[in-house]
Amino acid sequence: MNEYQLEQINALQMVRQHPDALSGQPGIKAEIEHYYDFRTRTAEFHQAHFEQICTEKCYFNNLSACCSKNGIIVFFADVVINALAASAAELDLLEHAIAHPLSPGKCIFLTHKGCLWQIKPIVCEMFVCQTAKNAAFENNPQAAEQWEAFEKERKTFTWPDQPVLFEHLERLFLDLGAESSLMHIHKSPGLLRIKKNREAASRQA
Ligand code: SF4
Repeated sequence: MNEYQLEQINALQMVRQHPDALSGQPGIKAEIEHYYDFRTRTAEFHQAHFEQICTEKCYFNNLSACCSKNGIIVFFADVVINALAASAAELDLLEHAIAHPLSPGKCIFLTHKGCLWQIKPIVCEMFVCQTAKNAAFENNPQAAEQWEAFEKERKTFTWPDQPVLFEHLERLFLDLGAESSLMHIHKSPGLLRIKKNREAASRQA
């Protein structure tokens, strides 16, 4: 396995080793419920505004730019959230796909059955190419505004300029002694800087 596969499988196995990580964590559970609601609404929006365009522009032409990309960015919280929504058999399939990718050069999670995530990584949910956005929003400014609102709402779960769910899930597992290179909020220099600025600002307040 290459480095990307190893970091994905390590994170997934680590999460599976802690099935009770969320017990006694009502605050984080409530945050996850809000996140599920957000993901349901964005999925419905996709279906209503992008699905037909994406099918025509990418699927039939065999482009499928997002899933054809090798090495999408996955956050540790994506792995936790998906594991909570998936069965053991579905997680076994995911592990198998990571270790035995179907097509070189394509996303390792893409199989003949489609994407193996029950709740795909946030990067995948929010990635829409400019062509699709132009086509969907050309005569529908309300839809464009709604998409912009979703982009802002996404940050309330993922962007550490405030305490967010993705950070809380990383912290929870770090406190359990688990550590993963997918814990970007605690490892990426850019995100760490944002978190530090937030903490400095709250000390001064
Ligand atoms: S994780 Fe799923 S949705 Fe995201 S790029 Fe891979 S196959 Fe596509």
